Amino acid sequence: MIKVTLPDGSVKEMTQGVTPMDVAKSISEGLARNVISASYNGTTIETTTTLTTDGTLILYTWNDKEGKKAFWHSTSHVMAQALEELFPGIKLTLGPAIDNGFYYDVDFGDKKITDADFKKIEDRVLEISREKHEFKMRSVSKAEALEVYKDNEYKTELISNLEDGTITFCDHSNFFDLCRGGHIPNTGIIKAMKILSVAGAYWRGDEKNKQLTRVYGISFPKQKDLTDYLELLEEAKRRDHRKLGKELELFHFSQKVGQGLPLWLPKGAALRDRLEQFLKKAQKKAGYEQVVTPHIGMKDLYVTSGHYAKYGADSFQPIHTPAEGEEFLLKPMNCPHHCEIYNARPWSYKDLPKRYAEFGTVYRYEQSGELHGLTRVRGFTQDDAHIFCTPDQLDAEFKNVIDLVLYVFGSLGFENFTAQVSVRDLDNPDKYIGSVENWEKAENAIISAAKDKGLNYVIEAGEAAFYGPKLDFMVKDALGRSWQLGTIQVDYNLPERFELSYKGADDKLHRPVMIHRAPFGSMERFIAILLEHTAGNFPIWLMPEQAIILSLSEKYENYAKKVLDLLENHEIRALIDNRNETIGKKIREAEMNKYPFMLIVGEEEEKNGTISVRQRGQEGKGNISVTIEQFAAMINEEINKTLKQF
Ligand SMILES: [Zn+2]
Ligand SMILES: [Zn+2]
Repeated sequence: MIKVTLPDGSVKEMTQGVTPMDVAKSISEGLARNVISASYNGTTIETTTTLTTDGTLILYTWNDKEGKKAFWHSTSHVMAQALEELFPGIKLTLGPAIDNGFYYDVDFGDKKITDADFKKIEDRVLEISREKHEFKMRSVSKAEALEVYKDNEYKTELISNLEDGTITFCDHSNFFDLCRGGHIPNTGIIKAMKILSVAGAYWRGDEKNKQLTRVYGISFPKQKDLTDYLELLEEAKRRDHRKLGKELELFHFSQKVGQGLPLWLPKGAALRDRLEQFLKKAQKKAGYEQVVTPHIGMKDLYVTSGHYAKYGADSFQPIHTPAEGEEFLLKPMNCPHHCEIYNARPWSYKDLPKRYAEFGTVYRYEQSGELHGLTRVRGFTQDDAHIFCTPDQLDAEFKNVIDLVLYVFGSLGFENFTAQVSVRDLDNPDKYIGSVENWEKAENAIISAAKDKGLNYVIEAGEAAFYGPKLDFMVKDALGRSWQLGTIQVDYNLPERFELSYKGADDKLHRPVMIHRAPFGSMERFIAILLEHTAGNFPIWLMPEQAIILSLSEKYENYAKKVLDLLENHEIRALIDNRNETIGKKIREAEMNKYPFMLIVGEEEEKNGTISVRQRGQEGKGNISVTIEQFAAMINEEINKTLKQF
């Protein structure tokens, strides 16, 4: 008998040689129907692998990340089979599961795959799937494996790097592939499959190697899941921040200025400014003080901070001056500058905490292949702040920062988020700097703050940085995609390196603890995520222009101007479209430009001193005729729905 421990801690006595599927059946038939993958003692195995020792078993279904991975990886075997049948003589290389689906890198030789082939391949994959072939692992000797793949230099290379005795093939139908394992029980549960795209990919990611064709696909246990997924993809394309950023005239990239260096157009700059003012106002209330630091610093500053040793070689290279040996670096982080601000004078424990905030622009040299719109850039502005406090103040400071982050998320319509607390790996205490006592204090402060604030959080052991534990927020956007936003990080390292101190109640000098935090992360990335989350329909308080006045003809220009003045008195941001165009055209364009309110003015309105209000996206509702005062009340009500008091 062996002892099989399940995730809930229960232990099952099973006969030696049972399979994960047997264990699932012993729990319930329903579970057994849904189990598609398993892991034993942390290693992915087949649902048919026999268990011979005691261990911890996790059973996965489609709803688990690991389950999806097995499902997609298994489908890549089936796709490889279909590709070999339809394109005889091609060479298969590697076909892993990825976050959304899978790919297979193939050397098509003199053959070529085009969009026109996709349907044929998909049909064949589903045909094979319906035949319900089991996936079976088989051990092969190195010599045999090399013989089988003697005409495939890619597999030969992979096999050459493997130890004899560890090599396995996976069989299904009349197809086999070199594989480590991790499959679903049989092909029958693959009910829907789509080839998403093909792209070039170098063998082993090295551009000196031959270029292969990467065939991307995805599969599902239900047709409906595929339909939903494809709709989501279409919606994501419509919401792509690069596309919306252009349409809404927010930002621009110029090859002359340089890749990854966004230029903010007037409307984008106004949007950024509004976000900055919003956060500055809340930060002021939370006791932050605004500071400003330069975009460059002496190389020595970053040698002291440790950034130069860590990132120097892969980043922008030092700036030289006419002075012999003088070197500056573009600022990769604001923290060293803020440490020097702290060091500008001596502090007593009574002065702490000090909270220095700065919208600080930093520069990091991302590889050109990694650049992507506003989400991966080479110059960006962090909504940065550093809190210097005593270890006893950590608890309260953490709670304050969480309050601020939740206020930011709430005001911007991010309602769905989770938090991750990253703590030490207790088995590797040497990895971390700072005293055990302080680490305990900090970890407990984070966990108790997360608990107190009712966050939905998980604790990840071993995920902390060497210099301190942290709390990360993962936000789900309107399309269900996860983004990491808002980090709060404790740091024992920089106070040490910059020899920061304060005088304690005991009259002795102590090291303060430093907290790095940025609710947005960076303005660039945050605006990109906000654009994709809202499709450009930002909360009204954030809109650069909240209303557009559409005059029925040029005759009403003076009245339109009067309305604009009145709106300004009510602090409503608006503009006039006084072009000699039809009202229908003006409305269509205003809708496209996402103005939340369209205010139509003509003879009737001028006579009665009113405006005719039309809300974006509510064409069926008809316009309502109101006075400016009534409209101001209306817009304020809308604003208060999202923008809460801090
Ligand atoms: Zn496999
Ligand atoms: Zn920092």
